[in-house]
Amino acid sequence: MELKEAVEKVRERIGQAASRAGRNAAGITLVAASKTVDIETILLAARCGIHHFGENRVQEFLIKQRQLPGAHWHFIGHLQTNKVKDIIGKACLIHSLDRWRLAEYIDDRAEKLQTEVPVLLQVNVSGEKSKHGIAPSEIMSFLTAVEDLKYLRVKGLMTMAPEVEDIGLTRPVFKYLYQIFETIKGKNFKNTEMRYLSMGMTQDFEVAIEEGANIIRVGRAIFGSRDRR
Ligand SMILES: *Cc1c(COP(=O)(O)O)cnc(C)c1O
Repeated sequence: MELKEAVEKVRERIGQAASRAGRNAAGITLVAASKTVDIETILLAARCGIHHFGENRVQEFLIKQRQLPGAHWHFIGHLQTNKVKDIIGKACLIHSLDRWRLAEYIDDRAEKLQTEVPVLLQVNVSGEKSKHGIAPSEIMSFLTAVEDLKYLRVKGLMTMAPEVEDIGLTRPVFKYLYQIFETIKGKNFKNTEMRYLSMGMTQDFEVAIEEGANIIRVGRAIFGSRDRR
């Protein structure tokens, strides 16, 4: 499939999922997960109306951002503390705050730059050992600790659903995170604002939209399978 058609198809599916859920598709941000995608293809995607890109490696992020500085660049991968200095101030949103030590590192670096750093808390809802993210039971104490930081700003939550054949197992994960998102909204944590709920990838973005996601991160449905690239 041509890239243009693939983007149109994804947009159409977003629209349909949104209308099934009685939501406005305009409120849902499509982040193209562009890891391993070459810059020519990314520039083409930008011409097809994609304005948000997500990368999961710092080096690759920086190279691509330099070539398309007008787009919004999200960092969506596991972030090593020694790479924090390279990414803050560059990423419009870091989706993957998955441990307390990283929060401290970001805050410390942000202080040197005197810049607020917007992040999402990555939550490991399913509890799989292979996945990064904090446990749901730790969220409230984490956000309480964030109140003492100076530059870190939690803007919402992110999760990766388990990779399962049966999409029926995914929906409860998204439903649960949405409930937590709404619960936190009702509390008044300093430095925290529940604005973004980042969930859903190629295999499950429609379910995620039905369950309240307002950012989806889609790679394969736009760029094709990673093995074929
Ligand atoms: C690659 C990636 C995606 C997109 O996955 P696809 O299956 O290609 O849609 C979403 N989120 C993260 C964190 C990723 O690394």
